[in-house]
Amino acid sequence: MTQILSSAPIKKKIIKELKTECKFLIENGIHPYLKVILVGNNPASLVYTASKKKFCEKIGAKCDIITLGENADQKTFLEIITGINQDPNVHGCIIQLPLPAHLSHLDVGKLVSEEKDVDGFHPNNLYAVLSNQISTDHFVSCTPKGIITLLMEYNVEIANKRVAIIGRSMIVGKPLACLFTNHDATVTLCHSKTPNIREITKECDIIVSAVGIAHLIDQSFISNKKNQVVIDVGMNTDTNGQLCGDVDFEKVKDHVLAITPVPGGVGPMTIISLAQNLLQASKNRLSL
Ligand code: NAP
Repeated sequence: MTQILSSAPIKKKIIKELKTECKFLIENGIHPYLKVILVGNNPASLVYTASKKKFCEKIGAKCDIITLGENADQKTFLEIITGINQDPNVHGCIIQLPLPAHLSHLDVGKLVSEEKDVDGFHPNNLYAVLSNQISTDHFVSCTPKGIITLLMEYNVEIANKRVAIIGRSMIVGKPLACLFTNHDATVTLCHSKTPNIREITKECDIIVSAVGIAHLIDQSFISNKKNQVVIDVGMNTDTNGQLCGDVDFEKVKDHVLAITPVPGGVGPMTIISLAQNLLQASKNRLSL
């Protein structure tokens, strides 16, 4: 029978660990504190930021969402980030993407200081992933980190496996390709210009889709051996307005060994990783 790689049991276990860790930090004078900067009213961003705040508060951390209007000027936006970078009581900061068009030229990865970059976008954090030199001073991008955590929690072998990742973004596909490589997998990173993606995915042990097209991945991407693991990163809206992944779950699920659902798969793992990074950033202040 196909294994459904739900995040629910992992979430339950990790929340317990994070609560204990948060309590320890508070007892030692550090109350983990995340600031989220949200510019504009993108409906998906409103939902994502609210979920992040809820999760932080659930484990005992503080989280403020700083909401700026759609037309917020660049000077105000940058001043807020500088203020957060300089505030010793704030341990983590994330800038919710996407930014409105007039701010989208900014190199977001360089704005939040490296030690508060709990999204793992700073060049030094990315370099740690690229060079496989990740220490407690570094933060790994939340979605790729969450995917590796999920696979490890379900004892899915990564070493020596062939992995196809569809999507080469800086926040998912590229860092994830590095993480899999660091775990001794052999990775093919596919994108919109890759010819014959199906030939690649059919040959792989693990398929990750991070594209953003509802129901793109159907049975034609899958081998008929029922031995593949499918990870669906996509968060899309179907024709009925319901949240759905890149994978046509109903068409694919009976033909694979294991598969993540949407919702309840990679999405919650991303928030768990964010909370883990926040607590790590807070813990790093203990030794200062
Ligand atoms: P993105 O920056 O838009 O990147 C999409 C990638 O997909 C690009 O590399 C693009 O190729 C590739 N692509 C587009 N159409 C394709 C096609 N027909 N065949 C093969 N590749 C194709 O997206 P993203 O930010 O990585 O997000 C991807 C999806 O994951 C979205 O649905 C997003 O909402 C979701 N997401 C979920 C989480 C979570 O926590 N679950 C976190 C982040 C993102 P090119 O580079 O050639 O354009």
